[in-house]
Amino acid sequence: MFQPEFESMERGALNGLQIERLKKTLDRINANNASYTKKINNLTSKEIERIEDIQKFPLMTKDDLRLGYPYGFACAHPSEFMRFHMSSGTTGTPIINPFTRNDIKQWGDIMARCYVAAGLNSEDVVQITPSFGLFNGGFGFHYGAETLGAMIVPIGAGRTSLQLQFLKDFQVTCITAIASYPLRLVEVAEKEGFDFKGVPLHIGIFGSEVWSDEMRSRIENRMGIETFDIIGMTETGGVGLGIDCSAHEGIHVWEDDYLVEIIDPETGEVLPDGEEGEMIVTTLNREGLPLIRYRTRDITAIISRDPCSCGRTSLRIARLKGRNDDMLKIKGVAFYPSQIESILMKRKELGNHYQIVIEKIKGRDSLTVMVETKEDVGPEMSSSVNADIYDMLGFHADKLDFLPEETLPRVPGKAVRVVDKRQ
Ligand code: ZN
Repeated sequence: MFQPEFESMERGALNGLQIERLKKTLDRINANNASYTKKINNLTSKEIERIEDIQKFPLMTKDDLRLGYPYGFACAHPSEFMRFHMSSGTTGTPIINPFTRNDIKQWGDIMARCYVAAGLNSEDVVQITPSFGLFNGGFGFHYGAETLGAMIVPIGAGRTSLQLQFLKDFQVTCITAIASYPLRLVEVAEKEGFDFKGVPLHIGIFGSEVWSDEMRSRIENRMGIETFDIIGMTETGGVGLGIDCSAHEGIHVWEDDYLVEIIDPETGEVLPDGEEGEMIVTTLNREGLPLIRYRTRDITAIISRDPCSCGRTSLRIARLKGRNDDMLKIKGVAFYPSQIESILMKRKELGNHYQIVIEKIKGRDSLTVMVETKEDVGPEMSSSVNADIYDMLGFHADKLDFLPEETLPRVPGKAVRVVDKRQ
């Protein structure tokens, strides 16, 4: 562990620390930002005696933060800001998170914890493939590696051939990426005759997109690595809110820094452990943009608050199933793109790239699933995929398109999995 004093803290002491830091966070909001104070119904740290008292506070949404662009919810003086990161949302006003010096240190610490949870130490060489810029990924992986003392290959996004060359030239042991990027690496490696067995790379840390278990095992098999699922978002202070450890029995959330609740997204009611709902995050150690009960839109469940076999005591959540925003509704049935992905990735004949297209044809919803294939597939493939889709949704896809490899667009950053033409 990088900070065992926090990572393996006994639960009673951990709860005490959470209460202390939550009160401090509320005091900071009250002292620095009158409109934010009003937004939390003028409540103060006096409300907090037990950790459950957080439920007295209202929920905050992405739209609240958007309306506050750029510094409406900031709780430090602008002269204290070192830099900001911006949410990568596709539409509308962006969300800005300004970081103070302490925020950058907090980020470096939790990211170093994540690296150690994935088995790294200061001897490792880390290749950082997310971009360095408004998107938080590049810098987050950078600060963590620097805090740990590992060697950094700061290549950033794109240039896939050069990425492969650097893996070899710099004897990289760990690669970090947006979850769909490893598939692109594999694709280019195959074309160029690059052999992952010939390089020391053995750890991958991926996140920022929902990736199914099936895609995960595909990446692990093709690259010959062990992968770790990292979570976090610009609003919470960037990547590094949590990661799974080598036991791979859920994602540890750094509870001394983040208080997590799961709610029913319809009613806002807090759900018991084990039940699936929307993750709510309260930050306990952030200055620039502290969050009180922020709706992340991520769907997950708390799977355990018991100590893990790795020795860490922080609670564990299930791998993210989807974002509320990504939820698709066709013919009245709700589902996540990752569920279609699971069906496709189970079949080794099918390629790594797919796209779901939804449109209205003659007034009714129509679902097309396009997927690249490595080889010609017969009508049996079509009927078996559609049978699985029927089992899941209660209706068949209107069309299944099996396309030659490299037909679907490759875009920098997050993959475009869904095209909804109804809007
Ligand atoms: Zn663990």
